[in-house]
Amino acid sequence: MKGLPAETDFIVIGAGVAGLRAAIELADAGPVLVLAKKEVMNSSAQSLPGETAALSDEEEVILHLQDTLIAGDGLCLPQAVKTLVDDAPERIEEVIAWGNQFDRNKTKLTFETEALYSHSHVLRAPGSTAGAAILRALHAKLQTRKNISLLEFEFCTGLVAENQRVTGVSLISEKGLPEEVSCSAVLLATGGVGQIYRNTTNAETATGDGVATAFRAGAEVGDIEFIQFHPTTLYMKKAPRFLLSEGLRREGAYLRNIEMDRFMGKYHPLAEQAPEDVVARAIMHEMEISRAKDPFVYLDLTHLNATRVQKRFPRIYATCMKQNIDITEDVIPVRPAAQFSVGGVRTDLEGRTSLAGLYAAGETASTGVHGANRFASNSLLEGLVYGARAGRAMRAELKQTRKVPSKEKKAASQNGPVDAGIEELIGQIQDIMWKDAGIVRTRSGMLEAVKVLEGLAPRVTHPRTRRSHEAANLHLAGLLVARSALAREESRGAHYRTDYPGHDDKKYLKHSVIKGESVRFV
Ligand SMILES: Cc1cc2nc3c(=O)[nH]c(=O)nc-3n(C[C@H](O)[C@H](O)[C@H](O)COP(=O)(O)OP(=O)(O)OC[C@H]3O[C@@H](n4cnc5c(N)ncnc54)[C@H](O)[C@@H]3O)c2cc1C
Repeated sequence: MKGLPAETDFIVIGAGVAGLRAAIELADAGPVLVLAKKEVMNSSAQSLPGETAALSDEEEVILHLQDTLIAGDGLCLPQAVKTLVDDAPERIEEVIAWGNQFDRNKTKLTFETEALYSHSHVLRAPGSTAGAAILRALHAKLQTRKNISLLEFEFCTGLVAENQRVTGVSLISEKGLPEEVSCSAVLLATGGVGQIYRNTTNAETATGDGVATAFRAGAEVGDIEFIQFHPTTLYMKKAPRFLLSEGLRREGAYLRNIEMDRFMGKYHPLAEQAPEDVVARAIMHEMEISRAKDPFVYLDLTHLNATRVQKRFPRIYATCMKQNIDITEDVIPVRPAAQFSVGGVRTDLEGRTSLAGLYAAGETASTGVHGANRFASNSLLEGLVYGARAGRAMRAELKQTRKVPSKEKKAASQNGPVDAGIEELIGQIQDIMWKDAGIVRTRSGMLEAVKVLEGLAPRVTHPRTRRSHEAANLHLAGLLVARSALAREESRGAHYRTDYPGHDDKKYLKHSVIKGESVRFV
């Protein structure tokens, strides 16, 4: 298949771990069109430092399940977690067979511990990140399948639906033209919504396109208020927020405020070893009381053995060196940043959304597997497991009838006058989300966020270019997060409100579902 077809059997939007895994599953059933808005190795998986994928040694599967349920703070769907851990060995074995390598001790896979969990549950890839390595293996496998056509720089702008059924997608093609392609089923695997925040570790592609597109078409979005924030990312004004893993604190790194005082002892008996969300909130508080215009705190490794630090964290060492920071001699300026979208487009365990013909997988989806907070390293595995399951379920859609819409070609401008001021608009969205619907939330703050976003609505109503579509998607995804967070009057998992600091199991041991402007709990 060369170029965009008028119709195909299956369309997969997104070429990250979830999208590619689904496409491989679909290839035996019929032609698959995989579309990515950027080059394929530019998904968030590509930029991951020291990345790990969850898997447990056979005897410890039950511990992986338990740790995931604990991290999810009461909201995980147990069946979704069970499915994840049950399917995991097969999914990991196949990516190994397709060329991915994980660290081994002789022939046996090496399992490592991460964060404060009960067992060794993560795999690392030698010399590179597990995320990028898995993506490369999937990509190599995909090249061997004749039925799959992977096209880059094709930007999905919406879904085409007929008789309550999704029958295709609309897009801005690589050539900048509006196109439509029809199909039997569409999978959204566009990653998360991290770019709604001023500070984020996410790739620039994570503009919530899948969530916004599905929501506009009438699909249910769930648990979207739960955004996981990483406490320590390198803070250099114009540089991307590079993740400084919790491994540094486990190794003995201290956190210091701008007065150079260690402060974590004031917030938690475990000091720097406290849970991630506690550390993130403590840093936010220290930044606030510093009253600095550009606040940050420091991560300090200078008291640790320099040779060991360099050996244990070569990527972090090299990245900081590029910013002229020698982490064995200098303290590192850090800020928290958005890391992972826990909720998303609501699906069942086979990736089916509430709209016929529409599926979602990976970070775009909300399967219930993460509950209210993600267990570290489960997301790559989620992409593999639920990507494959969605692919399998989509094959059945071939029986459905489909319609070929006429291809419409209008002049589309990539950078015309409509884009004037778009970056400033995106900046406004990111600033209000960071300030009022970020790590520490209050009712008044979120009301303000909703009000500001609603006020910006006229500026995103008629997007024409890719960037203005991204602005509209960020705007909508931001509104969904703020409205859901406002409705959940408790603190749970990654969602923290100072006005409701505790759990309210009676009312909110439930999943949020947002449709239109109303949020309900089920
Ligand atoms: C810094 C960092 C560290 C992480 N560390 C870990 C870890 O250690 N372990 C772990 O398991 N997880 C980790 N994660 C999370 C994990 O990497 C992601 O959840 C996962 O890679 C998401 O995969 P995905 O397939 O859902 O989406 P992505 O990999 O984000 O892919 C999205 C795809 O959709 C495409 N796309 C988006 N919008 C459109 C559109 N409108 N039209 C066409 N194409 C579109 C993009 O171009 C891209 O190809 C980390 C994430 C970050 C940012």
